Amino acid sequence: PHTPTTPRLETRSTCCYCGVGCGVIIEHDGKQISGVRGDPEHPANFGRLCSKGSTLHLTMTEDSLAVRALYPELRKQREQPRQRCDWHTALDHAAERFASVIREHGPDAVAFYISGQLLTEDYYVFNKLAKGLIGTNNVDTNSRLCMSSAVAGYKLSLGADAPPACYEDIQHADTLFIAGSNTAFAHPILYRRIEDARAAKPAMKLIVVDPRRTDTAAEADLHLAILPGTDIALYNAMLHVMLWEDWIRPDYIAAHTEGFEALRKTVREYTPAMAAGICGIDKKDIEKAAEWFAHAGDASKATLSMYCMGTNQSSHGTHNNAAIINMHLATAQIGKPGAGPFSLTGQPNAMGGREVGGLANLLSGHRDLAKPEHRAEVAQLWGIPEVPEKPGLSAVELFDAMAAGQVKAVWISCTNPAQSMPDQNLIRQALSQCDFVVVQEAYRTTETARYADLLLPATSWGEKTGTVTNSERRISRVIQAVPAPGEARHDWDAALDFARRLGNKLANPHTAKLFPYSTEQEIWNEHRESTRGRDLDITGLSYAMLEQQGPQQWPFPSGAHTGKARLYEDGRFPTDSGKARFVVTEHRETAEKADSKYPIRMTTGRLRDQWHGMSRTGTVARLYAHEAEPLIHMNAADMARRGLKNGDTVRVKSRRGEVILKLRESESVRAGQAFMPMHWGSNAMSGLGSNALTIKTFDPFSKQPELKHAAVQIEKYQAA
Ligand code: SF4
Repeated sequence: PHTPTTPRLETRSTCCYCGVGCGVIIEHDGKQISGVRGDPEHPANFGRLCSKGSTLHLTMTEDSLAVRALYPELRKQREQPRQRCDWHTALDHAAERFASVIREHGPDAVAFYISGQLLTEDYYVFNKLAKGLIGTNNVDTNSRLCMSSAVAGYKLSLGADAPPACYEDIQHADTLFIAGSNTAFAHPILYRRIEDARAAKPAMKLIVVDPRRTDTAAEADLHLAILPGTDIALYNAMLHVMLWEDWIRPDYIAAHTEGFEALRKTVREYTPAMAAGICGIDKKDIEKAAEWFAHAGDASKATLSMYCMGTNQSSHGTHNNAAIINMHLATAQIGKPGAGPFSLTGQPNAMGGREVGGLANLLSGHRDLAKPEHRAEVAQLWGIPEVPEKPGLSAVELFDAMAAGQVKAVWISCTNPAQSMPDQNLIRQALSQCDFVVVQEAYRTTETARYADLLLPATSWGEKTGTVTNSERRISRVIQAVPAPGEARHDWDAALDFARRLGNKLANPHTAKLFPYSTEQEIWNEHRESTRGRDLDITGLSYAMLEQQGPQQWPFPSGAHTGKARLYEDGRFPTDSGKARFVVTEHRETAEKADSKYPIRMTTGRLRDQWHGMSRTGTVARLYAHEAEPLIHMNAADMARRGLKNGDTVRVKSRRGEVILKLRESESVRAGQAFMPMHWGSNAMSGLGSNALTIKTFDPFSKQPELKHAAVQIEKYQAA
């Protein structure tokens, strides 16, 4: 508690939860955080915070230390419990284990699985450690589960992974087209902006595409409750209507795009009547959506699409993205205020991870591993002979390879794959089989921490310094307010220490040159240099400038005075031809169809007041007031058919596992469907969460798995 002699300090930083990237002011005394409030000067939130952000200080109380990892713990034999050890012993042991696997089985027998909740500086070091020092591209991230279809969609259609719109476009839009996003729950402060914009502009139309009547869908002027996985049929049919009604922009298509004729032939087949049958909605609603999206051909009006996990977490997520972008290109709804295809990032720094190339197929500065010239540029930047050519393992592939005994040592940082990956039982089996598992975590309570041979305590929000980039390409500072608890160290710092030890054990002559840093700023400055001349050039920024002038959007090249609010205003795209590409997209089924044995189509999603696997939000009693426990939501007709009542305990089974939890009757889901929140894991009744049921099938372009859908059976549970 504060006494009159205790100094009251304030530190400007950024919320560590979602990709809105709200600015926060941390109130503290230099030792303990006592409060948090929204930063009125931060352009993402202008002082507002949601239920999660405004309770951040409650995750940093002295009581919260009970769930924190405070010192390294090591077990040398799998059967033994972990014992406390010092950092030198921990990192030396880890370096020796990794070195011996690399010597015996080669660099691709080790892997790093990191997180969109790490800071850009952390990400940069892990990426360099794997690709630059060890010589493996086996570094992937939980952003693979979140954003990779948006990345692949942008690159396929527009030539670069760059969301072309910004938050301010919400107020300039005449139609908001939200697809696969419960923005009201998952991006609450952005949703407040939507509410404000609608209040200021009553004629604005809100269309929401979602199988479920979410809180966002309930507020829509038009809710298209499509059957799970039928997005492309809807978008193709909307484009069909736009073509038929002559609401497209032939002048824009001719001047700035290519590939339209092939797409025109395809969408000719997608009549509203045909798509209505596939999507399970009224054909008039498809026609209405097309009219509002294209403003019946009125070029002065603007449409902004916002989309998230419902679009991305699909076995055809990349084409879901491309089909939305097709509509924007055909109607010239891009590169002007209030318009554009705008993917929302789920995690606070999914975007920063993409910038540094922290995925198995990417390299620093939005470079592609597959391009020899990009590998050569990065090798030159890092001062090493080459970056390995062989693509690394994406998230699902990585754990499959672990289960097959091909990945023998893994370093997991700031993420909980034993809960968040699809086909949870398979992931847990892979982790228990892996020879050596390092888990670098702020919380000792995650499901994944149980599998750690070495648990390394990591710093958390309020204790870290660096940068994050939000959904609208805006880079914000994250600044440490209080010291780390126990012996916790920053992720980049521990990774760097490990890298130097590993480099020495492998007698790698480039070790010292690769890792010359002693501060976050030195790491960031190198990252900044890697963007020079690239689409995301940030050479005009510095730590000091971000602190003095506030968060900035990229690109922000040297000599610029501001970043770019929106991209492609001149109609030029970063493709070889300078033109955007229409992508032919066709309807495809979900990876798993409902059948007589598993007749219910289950979708998954977030609750308003919880975050991911609840390691942080789960420590705040207040955040259980909205939803106290995991519940599966089911339609009354389906419940009656099975003789189920509200509050019954049910067993939910898929081909991969089963979960036991309580049932809630809900008209938000259509007959034949169910909804399960994704937050609970070992704290659920059966010790397993929604991902015990989900399938690992992934999109062929992005390798993002179909976490949003599984065919399940639901029956009354009778305890033995
Ligand atoms: Fe944090 Fe997202 Fe809430 Fe903003 S909207 S306070 S970034 S959780």
